Amino acid sequence: MAAHKILIVEDEQVIREMIAFHLSRAGYETLEAADCRVARELLADKRPDLALIDWMLPDISGLELTRMLKRDKDYEDLAIIMLTARAGERDKISGLDGGADDYITKPFSPRELLARIQAVLRRSSSSDGEAVNAGVLELDKAGHRVLASGNEIKLGPTEFRLLRFLMTHPDRVYSRAQLLDRVWGANVYVEERTVDVHVRRLRKALSPGSANDYIQTVRGAGYRFSTRDDSSI
Ligand code: CA
Repeated sequence: MAAHKILIVEDEQVIREMIAFHLSRAGYETLEAADCRVARELLADKRPDLALIDWMLPDISGLELTRMLKRDKDYEDLAIIMLTARAGERDKISGLDGGADDYITKPFSPRELLARIQAVLRRSSSSDGEAVNAGVLELDKAGHRVLASGNEIKLGPTEFRLLRFLMTHPDRVYSRAQLLDRVWGANVYVEERTVDVHVRRLRKALSPGSANDYIQTVRGAGYRFSTRDDSSI
């Protein structure tokens, strides 16, 4: 199973590096940002699973960033833990309801931080389940396995990520550009026809189980995953 990716948004370098040190020692992949601008770039480019966001940041407040992210459909899968300097701030933030999944008051021990992170990641991965089912397909997120009518389908890593994204966002049309952003990451300079190449490979891999019909081309718009037949295509 791939390591969870955690973004640390904290302007105080010593604290940020201390957190990064403990998280990488615990097996997480870490990303660091000292302000919201860099944080937004890393969020778009690297697609972390969780963001630790300090309340006091030099550009916009961590609370404001949290609110922006929680309103943004693009980050609906992102878990957020806010770091606050005083217990009083925590009450204030809770009252303001930035939408964070949890709050940690400084100073905290590495053990406490790790426990909170594990709890939040567990909650966010159980809310969407370890396995996704759609029609004859079953996708095991943790084991990186896909079954069609019970038979394992061999997929490359990009096809797996593409299928996982589509299966978890069914019945919605995504343009090639949107799929590049969501599956490949923003600012990854690949051409839009790359999406077509991987869709073709994915369909081919799924065709023995006839699940290839689930990946629908919506003319002039992009692709959609649906187990329903749709005559408008
Ligand atoms: Ca700070």
